[in-house]
Amino acid sequence: MLNKVVIVGGGTAGWMTASYFKAAFGDRIDITLVESGTVGAVGVGEATFSDIRHFFEFLGLKESDWMPACNATYKLAVRFENWREPGHYFYHPFEQMRSVNGFPLTDWWLQQRPSDRFDKDCFAMASIIDAGRSPRHLNGALLDTPYDESAEEMQGLTMSEHQGRTQFPYAYHFEAALLAKYLSAYAVERGVRHIVDDVRDVELDERGWISSVRTAEHGDITGDLYIDCTGFRGLLLNKALEEPFLSFQENLPNDSAIALQVPMDMERRGILPCTTATAQDAGWIWTIPLTGRVGTGYVYARDYISPDEAERTLREFVGPAAADAEANHIRMRIGRSRNSWVKNCVGIGLSSGFVEPLESTGIFFIHHAIEQLVNNFPGEDWNPAHRDLYNQSVAHVMEGVREFLTVHYATAKRADNQYWRDTKTRPLPEGLAERLEKWKTQLPNTETVYPYYHGLPPYSYMCVLLGMGGIELNPSPALALSDPRAAAREFEAIRQKTEKLVDVLPAAYDYFTRLG
Ligand code: FAD
Repeated sequence: MLNKVVIVGGGTAGWMTASYFKAAFGDRIDITLVESGTVGAVGVGEATFSDIRHFFEFLGLKESDWMPACNATYKLAVRFENWREPGHYFYHPFEQMRSVNGFPLTDWWLQQRPSDRFDKDCFAMASIIDAGRSPRHLNGALLDTPYDESAEEMQGLTMSEHQGRTQFPYAYHFEAALLAKYLSAYAVERGVRHIVDDVRDVELDERGWISSVRTAEHGDITGDLYIDCTGFRGLLLNKALEEPFLSFQENLPNDSAIALQVPMDMERRGILPCTTATAQDAGWIWTIPLTGRVGTGYVYARDYISPDEAERTLREFVGPAAADAEANHIRMRIGRSRNSWVKNCVGIGLSSGFVEPLESTGIFFIHHAIEQLVNNFPGEDWNPAHRDLYNQSVAHVMEGVREFLTVHYATAKRADNQYWRDTKTRPLPEGLAERLEKWKTQLPNTETVYPYYHGLPPYSYMCVLLGMGGIELNPSPALALSDPRAAAREFEAIRQKTEKLVDVLPAAYDYFTRLG
């Protein structure tokens, strides 16, 4: 039986993989995880997609188990500030688009324009976030009935199977280091062997497959399947097996980041339950509220500003609270390994691929990869079909997200300096120019977005196009011939419902005080 797995790397990817495998296979799988005591994890990665709840559910963990231990908070949306013009913002929320008479509500919005805020008119979440509310009541009940968490048909579905059935209304923010620690305890308790040591060498057999990894103090470690979770280094996949890395840099030029962890009195500040992405002169700054601090960082392109300038900008943006915070400068490798599974090695996490964290997709990539690897776990015969299915699925997800992120820049109205003007003339991923043309005539739908599963439904594209404001969008001509009253009623129903929810939901901070 093929069941001996060696994971190299103990960042988010390594521990998510170890704990998920244990939850999936129990004692029938033998896992050793080696992580360096000297090379640190990347130390960022604190905002997620709403699908992440399936990960915790799969592990059998409740929010009250893990959230307080990881200083976690809820994330209801990404809030984009200043991408269109200074002072403008909009939300890309976790809330499925309603439709009226077969047309998405956003289409009706283009025709009726009840206000100048499509996000507030079409989604309940925008006002709930503006008011700093928790999506759960103090007794733990979820804000509204469409999100039936207990629905049995939703249990045990993979992320792609789940997509489109419902939209869970929130994701999480958490401290990356605390999550890795929490998951390591979970995995070790269930039998994962944990070795703290440096991998110095990777031994290959005569076929070029990995036969062992050589550590500094623990000798050679052998397994059947090796998982490369060594981050941007790609020690096994890219270095030992020489799998090439395909860069996305021509579409997405941001290649660096500087991150700060800023302690703050969150009771005074309050928690805005979203990740904020604020456009800057050469990129954007993320702001992630946790229960005891804010995580923040500037994602930028070195072709436009230096690391020192980026650090200055970030510190000014945060203000005096950042004075003592230590800067973590990171060089980002943007793109994907040509194949993430090569011979008996699978790269998961940054070794497999990464795009800038504008839509918080890094941990989603990891979760997706783990699910796919469980579905395609190899047998004794190493049937190459499993490997090929896996590689195809991982590539589709990353290529789809590459395209979605490119849409943000290509359609952002902001064009006030060279960096932002260049975002309008960069090469587009294959097929995107044609899709953008189609979206000018008809808002994105399942027929016209990137055609393979990549985690982003058509409504996400609608939000970005409507919010970024750089291309002209028109309502379907058919709406002029349709009765407008049902759509007007829907806008009014959302307004009334939102008003009520803002009234009765607790402040996000108060909710977490109770949870902790
Ligand atoms: P790392 O965290 O780098 O871990 C590598 C591990 O390999 C470490 O344990 C290290 O000790 C070990 N290692 C390395 N070399 C050796 C060796 N020789 N021997 C033994 N062990 C070794 N994702 C999101 O979902 N949301 C976000 O908001 C987000 N923000 C991000 C912001 C930035 C600036 C960056 C760069 C990434 C962000 N990501 C985000 C991505 C996210 O951080 C990663 O996907 C996640 O942390 C996984 O990293 P990793 O485990 O692959 O690598």
